[in-house]
Amino acid sequence: MRESIWEKQGSRRKETERAPLQGDIKRDALVIGAGMTGILTAYFLQQQGIQTAILEAQTVGSGQTGRTTAKLTSQHGLIYDYLLSKIGRQAAREYAAANQNAIDDYEHIIEKEDIDCSFQRLPSYLYTRSDRSALNREQRAAEMAGISCALEKETELPFPVSAALRFDRQAQFHPLDFLQALSADLEIYEHTPVVRAKGHTLVTKTGSARGEIIIFACHFPFVNRPGYYFARMHQGRSYVLALEQAQQLRGMYYGIDPGWNWSLRSAGKWLLFGGEGHRAGSIPKEDPYICLEKRAREFWSEWSIAARWSAQDCIPAGKIPFIGRFSKSRPAWYVATGFNKWGMTHAMVSARILSQMILEPGYGEKESESIFSPGRFHFRTFFPSMAKDGVISAKNLLASLVGRSPKCPHLGCQLHWNLFEHTWECQCHGSRFQEEGRLISGPAQNGLEL
Ligand SMILES: Cc1cc2nc3c(=O)[nH]c(=O)nc-3n(C[C@H](O)[C@H](O)[C@H](O)COP(=O)(O)OP(=O)(O)OC[C@H]3O[C@@H](n4cnc5c(N)ncnc54)[C@H](O)[C@@H]3O)c2cc1C
Repeated sequence: MRESIWEKQGSRRKETERAPLQGDIKRDALVIGAGMTGILTAYFLQQQGIQTAILEAQTVGSGQTGRTTAKLTSQHGLIYDYLLSKIGRQAAREYAAANQNAIDDYEHIIEKEDIDCSFQRLPSYLYTRSDRSALNREQRAAEMAGISCALEKETELPFPVSAALRFDRQAQFHPLDFLQALSADLEIYEHTPVVRAKGHTLVTKTGSARGEIIIFACHFPFVNRPGYYFARMHQGRSYVLALEQAQQLRGMYYGIDPGWNWSLRSAGKWLLFGGEGHRAGSIPKEDPYICLEKRAREFWSEWSIAARWSAQDCIPAGKIPFIGRFSKSRPAWYVATGFNKWGMTHAMVSARILSQMILEPGYGEKESESIFSPGRFHFRTFFPSMAKDGVISAKNLLASLVGRSPKCPHLGCQLHWNLFEHTWECQCHGSRFQEEGRLISGPAQNGLEL
């Protein structure tokens, strides 16, 4: 697999690797997954005296957190106009406050723990090259949600825009430097995939762990029933180049025009230039890295590529993550998933909500009214994407009956060969496998028998 610029810098050092779980343990809380969500949640619980252990299938930060572009923003595409028009002002306000507070929370933790992770406050911009009415609506909605923002005509980008919407007091950082520092004093078992969750027990290949509380922070929950998260999410993949000597930016940028929606930020001497997103498992016609390179040649005259990589994230029906109780029938289980490609602040939002639910009696009742509650069902926002996902799953299940491609061990969908990444990928729920069948990421839990 290609390494991200964070991984290349050696943030995941050999000497910090931890031993797998051997035998049986008992703790107050167990967290599945050592990405940003799992580490932050365990950190909050541990700080409050809750004895917490993390079980991680690979190594700390080896999931999507090691491959993010690590912008810390409350600006998430055109989210406020969407929330205002589809759900209402209160939902937009709750979303805005949670994500804006999350940026401040990062800053406080970094100061308190004295973490050197290149944290930097800077503005974030949404830009368009066409009609500015979408940005006008987003500005109005964001202001109604409690965020002050401003429309500008000029940017430092290497192409003209018709407008850019600026949010101040946003931030960026080095995700793995932060994660490694915060995980130093946590109890973590690496190379310990959880193969089964039953009541208060997590079963691994080399032992078992029992906890009063179980937290699924494993990106895409691998338990299908209860919860049915597989029916409410798919995954989206996108690609990033780290360019050396291209341009230094003073802000972070994200485009809203289809076909011209590049994500940009500086990271030290590199410029992170991302895009070419598509549904995971839907194989693009052209090599996405080559497409990004062609664009980079149009925008900047001299540069070299320091790293290229891709990542994927869970796209929830209704665009809002699922954070809270896993299911009514499993009161001891909690979940945080469906971050819609904005999982840095949402990981912090999750850690806050989950730790409050666990620590503060009565907070659980408030959670069920929250926009993030996994128990919510909002027909108007859920139906269009659930219906589309259902059709795609049905097609891939039917194709698996007649086709020769391998089947996904998760729910049996036909897999697609991604010739650009040399991976087998599932269009239904986004599981990925290496050429020889080894599992890269779930929800599938096993590799392929080829
Ligand atoms: C190209 C791209 C750029 C992005 N850039 C940004 C950005 O700039 N800002 C932003 O806010 N968001 C961004 N995101 C989204 C963000 O990176 C993710 O939402 C976030 O990293 C998810 O963190 P996580 O902890 O939930 O998951 P992960 O980091 O994937 O962690 C989950 C962990 O669980 C482990 N695991 C899985 N199954 C098991 C099991 N059975 N047993 C034990 N462990 C298990 C995995 O190995 C993994 O380490 C981006 C996404 C993409 C695709």
